[in-house]
Amino acid sequence: MFISDILAQKRPVFSFEFFPPKTDEAAKLLEKTIAELGPLGPSFISVTYGAGGTTREKTIDIVSRIKRETGVEAMAHLTCVGATRDDLKQVLDRLVASGVENVLALRGDPPKGEQAFQHTEGGFRYANELAGFIREQYPGKLCIGGACYPEKHVESVNPAVDLANLKRKLQDGAEFVVSQLFFDNRRYFDFVEYARDNGVTVPIIPGIMPITNANQAEKMTSMCGVSLPYRLAAELDARRSEPSAILEIGIAHATAQCIELLRAGAPGIHFYTLNRSNATQQVLAAIHAAGLSAVA
Ligand code: FAD
Repeated sequence: MFISDILAQKRPVFSFEFFPPKTDEAAKLLEKTIAELGPLGPSFISVTYGAGGTTREKTIDIVSRIKRETGVEAMAHLTCVGATRDDLKQVLDRLVASGVENVLALRGDPPKGEQAFQHTEGGFRYANELAGFIREQYPGKLCIGGACYPEKHVESVNPAVDLANLKRKLQDGAEFVVSQLFFDNRRYFDFVEYARDNGVTVPIIPGIMPITNANQAEKMTSMCGVSLPYRLAAELDARRSEPSAILEIGIAHATAQCIELLRAGAPGIHFYTLNRSNATQQVLAAIHAAGLSAVA
């Protein structure tokens, strides 16, 4: 089923994001996580695409298996990094052949060791071009999503330019967007208001990552140009050496974020699970307890 159709029929939608594991041990953990989170009834599960297409085979395999074996709708991430149109068409053909109906069209980040995104000869420069290609090549077969950035994309000179570029992606075929993670809901609310004032009508699904590790959260926020609210940053710093306290703070903060977002009418929550089930399970349980899991 197309995610655009799910979004039209049901609110809120809850979705989980996984990344392809690099080791056998990590693969076992992912299997366990899928087995634990699957029964919570997500509207869809998405699988990332490693920088430079490094996880291409695994992404195709995992997303196809989720679709085939769990009965949960699946979405494959796809990036333009290091790929020509023909390369991308091969991946898309395989996804379609295995029954996958949803693709998150991304430009992608530079591969490890490279500073800036390099356009591949015969490939695409921006996500909107990939979205346009998918729409042109797979009419009626694939629903296209895109990424958005409540605190603007790190390379973008200002929010107005970033929004104009987001609108290209929508004009070229993206039917919904999933946001970069954020820890301050005001950033999302401001962004949504600004986008709506400027004619963006598609669902903007907030991306939430329950913090489970202080160092990792700090690294990700600085890499992605995402802000950590002062009080949250101070709490994480003060408890840095107490993993269970960090987990509690992370779950409490994500829960408060989700409840406020859903009460304010967000179309759902996309969980950056980091391939672990515990934090996401607990946040979802609190959302259910608050009566926010099904809105007519
Ligand atoms: P774009 O939309 O192309 O934007 C990139 C930059 O170019 C922005 O600054 C934008 O303002 C500008 N721009 C866009 N279009 C134009 C244009 N036509 N002309 C001029 N400037 C333009 N990365 C991965 O490698 N694998 C993943 O699986 C993955 N999943 C992600 C999932 C989500 C929900 C999000 C939010 C991000 C994900 N990323 C992933 C990271 C993403 O690839 C990076 O943030 C990347 O730097 C930008 O990708 P994009 O699709 O947003 O690019």
